[in-house]
Amino acid sequence: MNYLSHLQCPKCQTRHDAHRPQNLCVNCGAPLLVHYRLAEARRELSRDVLARREKTMWRYRELLPVQDERNIVSLGEGFTPILPAPRLGARIGLDRLLVKDEGLNPTGTFKARGASAGVSRAKELGIKAVAMPTAGNAGGAWAAYGAQARLETHIAMPEDAPEINQLECRIYGADLTLVNGLISDAGRLIAQGVKEHGWFDTATLKEPYRIEGKKTMGLEIAEQLGWRLPDVVIYPAGGGVGIIGIWKAFKELLELGWVAAKPVRFVVVQAQGCAPLVRAFQERRQDSEFWQNARTLASGLRVPKALGDFLVLRALTESGGIAVEASDGEMLDAMNRAAKVEGLFICPEGAATVVAAQKLRARRWLNASDEVVLINTGSGLKYPEAARQALMV
Ligand SMILES: *Cc1c(COP(=O)(O)O)cnc(C)c1O
Ligand SMILES: [Zn+2]
Repeated sequence: MNYLSHLQCPKCQTRHDAHRPQNLCVNCGAPLLVHYRLAEARRELSRDVLARREKTMWRYRELLPVQDERNIVSLGEGFTPILPAPRLGARIGLDRLLVKDEGLNPTGTFKARGASAGVSRAKELGIKAVAMPTAGNAGGAWAAYGAQARLETHIAMPEDAPEINQLECRIYGADLTLVNGLISDAGRLIAQGVKEHGWFDTATLKEPYRIEGKKTMGLEIAEQLGWRLPDVVIYPAGGGVGIIGIWKAFKELLELGWVAAKPVRFVVVQAQGCAPLVRAFQERRQDSEFWQNARTLASGLRVPKALGDFLVLRALTESGGIAVEASDGEMLDAMNRAAKVEGLFICPEGAATVVAAQKLRARRWLNASDEVVLINTGSGLKYPEAARQALMV
């Protein structure tokens, strides 16, 4: 039913078999990317057929890794709206500001997309137990999809991760361990369990299929704009999976001939208290350095070192993009504004994209007429503590 071909390392180009479980490149340790037979798909598949399908990310199933539809584990994720934000845009000085609202996904964030793809493929490959460290929202999402798939799900998160993320893991029946430390410390604990118990490691980018789920944001942006690409996409990056996915989606759409070629500039925004990608971009490096003492209330952005950093930086450089930072105070202010002028209760990470748009417009990096898509990665409803603080500023 689909065009899955193989996995390939974007660093050393080594090919890997896609039909058995794989983690990182066996040659160099980089994350693997999924390749499809797109020339064949271009001849056989029409974008108009998709229009009549279910309004979930699985409407693009030929471009996703699952071979047998019966293995799809879905809670209705994806096909989230792209909302015009004219009042927010007017304040910033942007005539065509759009918000892709990922807060409407199951479990309240876009992590549902990665979990749906990753869990479905794990089930298809016969995996019985998955394990991952998380800053919070990914744990909730993998616990939910793991429950539906009846996978054993082991999750480790920092003890200061939002309480709601701990609760959702527990209510879905996942095995949750709290760690006194950062996501990198949780990662070490999981790596130990993987070694001892043979769990499948589904840490960010340590398995290839999460990117494919998040890629569907890019496919949707194109379809929802009438099979056309925007001028700019602004994304709040932690591990950077979403931006790697959207970048990959746009490339695949070009290869399929479904959209006309057009320069799209990618923008990554990170928190001032944890901005390894911004620093690397400014120093024109090809990868980032571990960020000491990472601190931000935007838990999804608290990632001191991302495995796919070189891919994010490649997407920025290749597209003529840029990386900027937002302070927690600026995020809280933007949360307030989005809620009050547009009725959008966005998460702090999503609010960071508003801050980035504002800064880049002020610097004239953005033009008034640019069509700009902000990715609001989750619902503000998952961040009652941030909302409380936003009301105090
Ligand atoms: C995980 C997360 C992010 C960062 O996503 P990456 O793909 O790791 O860059 C941003 N926002 C929210 C709400 C998240 O949960
Ligand atoms: Zn490699």
